[in-house]
Amino acid sequence: MKIAIIGAGNVGATIAYTLATQGVANDVSLIDVNTDKAYGEVLDIAHGGAVSEHVLLRAEGYEGLEDADIIVHAAGRGRKPGESRLDLAKGNIKITEGIISKIKKHYNGRSIFLVVTNPMDVLTYVFYKQMGIDRTKIFGSGTVLDSSRFKYLLGHHFNVDPRNLHAMVIGEHGDSSVPLWSAATIGPTLISQYPSKEQPRLSPEDIDNISKDVVQAGQEVIKRKGATFYAISMSVTRILKAIVNNENRLLCVSSYIENTHGVNDVCLSLPAIIGRDGIRELLTISLSPSEEAALQRSAAVLKDMLREVEYQ
Ligand code: NAD
Repeated sequence: MKIAIIGAGNVGATIAYTLATQGVANDVSLIDVNTDKAYGEVLDIAHGGAVSEHVLLRAEGYEGLEDADIIVHAAGRGRKPGESRLDLAKGNIKITEGIISKIKKHYNGRSIFLVVTNPMDVLTYVFYKQMGIDRTKIFGSGTVLDSSRFKYLLGHHFNVDPRNLHAMVIGEHGDSSVPLWSAATIGPTLISQYPSKEQPRLSPEDIDNISKDVVQAGQEVIKRKGATFYAISMSVTRILKAIVNNENRLLCVSSYIENTHGVNDVCLSLPAIIGRDGIRELLTISLSPSEEAALQRSAAVLKDMLREVEYQ
């Protein structure tokens, strides 16, 4: 399997590093407008090859997409201090449109696309509309990271390993994301009934605080170190592993949604089963009335932004 990553910045290079150290793919390529940076990142990771997993690492031009099985879009920039989400969207849409025109010249017709650059849901929509390929083959990293943050916070609250928590965030990867409290469990036990129905350890205040912390988690990191890239790279690697190993794994990725839960013609995250061919299916979920309304609000926020950037 060859994975080509466009963008060799913090996120793209850390995805390459994570793929190499976990031995996920045997061929990983970095493509960046700054060719020196891409080559420097490749060398830095490849120098550890003798003490890690076997992987062919390359810095390439867009011709490197011709034999790529998966293309990851991590090029562009994060939000500058004080910059609006709309200005970030406009800037990264321009970069993304330029990249798509280069991709089209070298697209082999079978690669799966994974969008990471922010605003990820909007850019997934741009990719989907511009590439004109099946929606199962083009999706965003979605709320896999948000769901992991949710589980981290719940694990901390209950002092339980986050891997034993089943909890998801759906909707926008952003301020309007929707943590699914009604379906969150520790193993088979609803968290609202843990440790017992009579004396739950989760108060309405805890729900409020954790919901806010899930949304704020990225900003907490950015405030301290200027960017987030480790957990997103681990999340992207998780998705890539599901594709490479044909895992049929349930992950909340962002994809083109039509007439589901009152949401239409927008990309946002819902639980999906991911395998070798991309999205095998979107899972049918039951939402509480407040979660359903929150999902529709999230879709409305994204549609507003798509209108503002003239994609709708
Ligand atoms: P960065 O500034 O470190 O790196 C961006 C890279 O993109 C640079 O190396 C730059 O040279 C390259 N680039 C710019 N224009 C290009 C072009 N036209 N063609 C090829 N390469 C180009 O940024 P980063 O920290 O790596 O973040 C990248 C993106 O990932 C940002 O939009 C950020 O917001 C996003 N991100 C998303 C998530 C998520 O959950 N989806 C999480 C963290 C970061």
